[in-house]
Amino acid sequence: MSNNFKIIKFFNKIDTVNGKCEHCGQDSILVAVVTEFYRCTMCGEDTRQHINGSIRYLQVTEDEKKWLRNQPSEK
Ligand SMILES: [Zn+2]
Repeated sequence: MSNNFKIIKFFNKIDTVNGKCEHCGQDSILVAVVTEFYRCTMCGEDTRQHINGSIRYLQVTEDEKKWLRNQPSEK
């Protein structure tokens, strides 16, 4: 399966997850922005989903923030 196919599929639904946000440290609802990137509903910061045994939501780097801003919104 190609990555593109997965991304297109992802845009067809709004994805929310429960997770601990690394920005505010709260157990929060995170809303998918694009694949792998989630926005915390508690503090509004963007996080990157990191799966390594357990799932974490990491703070995004400046480069990743720039990349995110350039993504077309599906809203
Ligand atoms: Zn947060």
